[in-house]
Amino acid sequence: MKFDNSFAKLPQRFYVRQAPVPVADPALVRVNHPLAGFLGIDPAWLESETGIHVVAGNQVPDGAEPIATVYAGHQFGSWNPRLGDGRAILLGEVIAEDGERYDIQLKGSGLTPFSRGGDGRAPLGPIVREYIVSEAMAALGIPTSRALAAVTTGEYVYREQKLAGGVLARVARSHIRIGTLQFFASVNDVDGLKLLVDHVIARHYPDQLGSDNPALSLLEQVIRSQASLVARWQGVGFIHGVMNTDNMLLSGETIDYGPCAFMDGYDSAAVYSSIDHGGRYAYRNQPAIAHWNLACLAQTLMPLLAAEEDSASEIAQQALDSFPSLFMQEYFAVLRAKLGLATSQPDDESLAQDFLDLLEGSRCDFTLAFRRLGELAGGAATIQPMFDFPEAFTPWLDRWRERCAQESISDAQRHEQMMATNPALIARNHLVEAAISQAYENDFSLFHRLTERLSRPFDYASGDEDLATPPKPEQIVQQTFCGT
Ligand code: AMP
Ligand code: MG
Repeated sequence: MKFDNSFAKLPQRFYVRQAPVPVADPALVRVNHPLAGFLGIDPAWLESETGIHVVAGNQVPDGAEPIATVYAGHQFGSWNPRLGDGRAILLGEVIAEDGERYDIQLKGSGLTPFSRGGDGRAPLGPIVREYIVSEAMAALGIPTSRALAAVTTGEYVYREQKLAGGVLARVARSHIRIGTLQFFASVNDVDGLKLLVDHVIARHYPDQLGSDNPALSLLEQVIRSQASLVARWQGVGFIHGVMNTDNMLLSGETIDYGPCAFMDGYDSAAVYSSIDHGGRYAYRNQPAIAHWNLACLAQTLMPLLAAEEDSASEIAQQALDSFPSLFMQEYFAVLRAKLGLATSQPDDESLAQDFLDLLEGSRCDFTLAFRRLGELAGGAATIQPMFDFPEAFTPWLDRWRERCAQESISDAQRHEQMMATNPALIARNHLVEAAISQAYENDFSLFHRLTERLSRPFDYASGDEDLATPPKPEQIVQQTFCGT
């Protein structure tokens, strides 16, 4: 690993220097070869004893400057003044093939000064879930943290039960959260805020370097990236589950795969997280919660937006007010592409909404319904044995065909575009849960199969039936757990 660390060069109050805590007996679960290659890390080295010890936190590689970073955040709407990396260590940053900087972080790597009452460890289940789901999201083209490698620790962690422990080496463009800025704002550290704003702009929004009002530029950019990100989540039926402000990255990548899930049957009120009793983070609330989180971000930036509080709040409000329409633009662009529409017409939004209402009325499988629609544009009917539209869809399908006929692209082109937009395979909850159960029995075969197969979610081949088929009623997973 060739480190080039920038966050560790920020002043001491941004982090605590902290080495990962070694584990008893690490064993390799998996190394992500393509990602390692992209990061300039030899996958064979990562799989070697040294590499396994690095991922486990038993050995600190040359050039790493291990730190635990400080942050705060609103968790389920309640303010928590001090969170920080309680079970994660940032080893450092590497420059990848694309010339961009990426964090390498170990999750589950032991106690830090931010562990509060926790043990700093992660059970294997959440590591397996994060590996599968974050990689599935990446393959769907959605900005996300990635999974570089996972190991078991040879130690147990104690939750409701005694569970095998694991460590995940996670990669992200940075781990700087809305909550990181919130921490500095809450302690009135305006210099710290300013340093962080400059750091994030240089790292993630370099086009904005030299802006007259860097804090406003950052706010506007994060508003855009969140609008786009959440629109993409909606487009694949992804429910994050813990959209706390400490779990929203300023880079616009998805992070914190705790109780997340993809929905099977379309249900706009879907919520899986065992701790989300009020449904605050339900599927349909995700855009409004993103907006709420962005209001927290705007609040933190107030001292930098303008010298006078009144004008700062006016600037913040104006920026925030752009979110709903920006989101809608992104969302309908996603839906139009899913419906195979190459152009935009005024009635498209109601066409899309009526389709979703029909899906909801019949609890149709969200993924297969769009995939099947793509088959109606042309090509082989491979999905049909698993899913076909009920009678109630006939008038809508006629409307959709009429709408398609108004475009100049051929059916074959439309089919091709829809197959590249609507996945056949998602990380279905019941499969992820099965992979987790097996992993606890030291059987990683389903985990490997899912990871491999979900890296090409738009290709459907024979042999994929069991992965593409929605759960039978008795297989439906009602609740997911974050393993904290
Ligand atoms: P999360 O729910 O993963 O977003 O975590 C929220 C906060 O709790 C973060 O500050 C984490 O570092 C901390 N945390 C979660 N699990 C643990 C754990 N097992 N030990 C210590 N801190 C934890
Ligand atoms: Mg978190």
